Amino acid sequence: MLIYNSLTRKREEFVPNVAGKVSMYTCGPTVYHYAHIGNLRSYIMEDVLEKYLRYTGLDVTRVMNITDVGHLSSDADTGEDKMLKGARRENKTVLQIAKFYTDAFFEDCKKLNIKTPEVVAPATTCIDEFIKTIEALIEKDYAYEAGGNIYFDTSKLSQYYVFNDFKEEDLEVGVREGVEEDTNKRNKADFVLWFTKSKFDDQELKWDSPWGIGYPGWHIECSCISMKYLGEYLDLHCGGIDNAFPHHTNEIAQSEAFVGHKWCNYWFHVHHLNTNSGKMSKSSGEFLTVSLLESKGYDPLVYRFFCLQSHYRKSLVFSYENLDNAVIAYNKLVAKIAALYKEEQGEIDAEALAALKARFSAAMDNDLNTSLAITALYDVLKAKTNAATKLAALADFDRVLCVGLIDAAQKIFDAEKRAAEAEAEAAANDPFVAYVQDMIAQRAAAKKAKDFARADAIRAELLEKGVTLTDTSQGTKWSLAE
Ligand code: AMP
Ligand code: ZN
Repeated sequence: MLIYNSLTRKREEFVPNVAGKVSMYTCGPTVYHYAHIGNLRSYIMEDVLEKYLRYTGLDVTRVMNITDVGHLSSDADTGEDKMLKGARRENKTVLQIAKFYTDAFFEDCKKLNIKTPEVVAPATTCIDEFIKTIEALIEKDYAYEAGGNIYFDTSKLSQYYVFNDFKEEDLEVGVREGVEEDTNKRNKADFVLWFTKSKFDDQELKWDSPWGIGYPGWHIECSCISMKYLGEYLDLHCGGIDNAFPHHTNEIAQSEAFVGHKWCNYWFHVHHLNTNSGKMSKSSGEFLTVSLLESKGYDPLVYRFFCLQSHYRKSLVFSYENLDNAVIAYNKLVAKIAALYKEEQGEIDAEALAALKARFSAAMDNDLNTSLAITALYDVLKAKTNAATKLAALADFDRVLCVGLIDAAQKIFDAEKRAAEAEAEAAANDPFVAYVQDMIAQRAAAKKAKDFARADAIRAELLEKGVTLTDTSQGTKWSLAE
């Protein structure tokens, strides 16, 4: 599979460190609010990536952190702890907020068919690991204490900016308008590993450490949680594009300083979901949630389908009009698949199935081109093969896309079947209906036997009794004259 690697800025063949096995890390949510559908775009695309890697036969172990401490309002070291902000907003404790929004996040994931990673680790459960890593970084002279906090010294690295060619101005991330510059930092790009001298006297969660009571910085948690569960060599690290800098840049800096060799081989970044007025964000203005979409009558899986219609490396504009178009496309697909159940199924044609699967894999192998993979779904419907083969191909692709097409089609088919059964039952209880249906069956048999005179006679006999027949592609329908 070819995958775009943000580290090399190239599409590369994906080759895991250990043949057949993949270690995959995902930056989890900061649980001070609901995840918005932009966050969930990232998690949907990462889920598709994980499932496709599994589809190709790889054994994936995936780890995700839950950020429940240390993520400040800016992604650098300024502003207040987002968790504290959430707790204050709702008049609850930080742990109550964390529990509530972690549960809400996984409920949304379930609705969107996003699989839960093998390991989910809240930052607050790994404090010992953070402290040990920070101690080692100090030991190796990559970190220093200043003004009570522990900082990572970026000047000790031969290369700090790994994802982009940042300019000198970009070093100013920590110095935004209205925010006091942190004069403890030796270099502008240095970042906090451990806060002891908190800027916030009311910081709720604090732990003892060799440097005094305090709490970890945000970046250290992902490095440590990843290494705790996946070891010193990581195959694949994912996140939204805003995480590339400074978060992932800092993760690489401290991890490689700690292990003394290259840490992660592939970096997968999902571009943003925007609205017409700009990026969707938890911290500013209104944002859209899965529950809100549901309350407006949208099936969450249609939102997943909407996301898959675009490539993950392009920003995607959300509007209800765009979502409505996705609803129309989704419903058409479902109706076409439901119709397949009514056809004569036949035996699965292995050769035809392999050809259809090859198109799907070609799309996905090409840097996870999910929009082409959806085109491959339409190709299945148009293919010159039997219904059993088509349904097998569609079910196979849905193991990865997980947009629930087969389930939705089956529901329609079952509902139609139940309606037909109800009609048959009603007919059995009503002699006139039974008579009309028997005549329709006799007429069909006569037509099949090319006895058109008999067929016409039946139609005429029924018409005399006020019954009009209409021949449709789904068989003969009848109605009574008013
Ligand atoms: P957060 O909960 O803010 O830590 O973000 C969780 C994930 O959502 C991270 O991987 C972010 O990079 C990603 N993310 C944030 N905003 C957006 C957006 N508008 N579109 C797509 N992904 C986003
Ligand atoms: Zn992270």
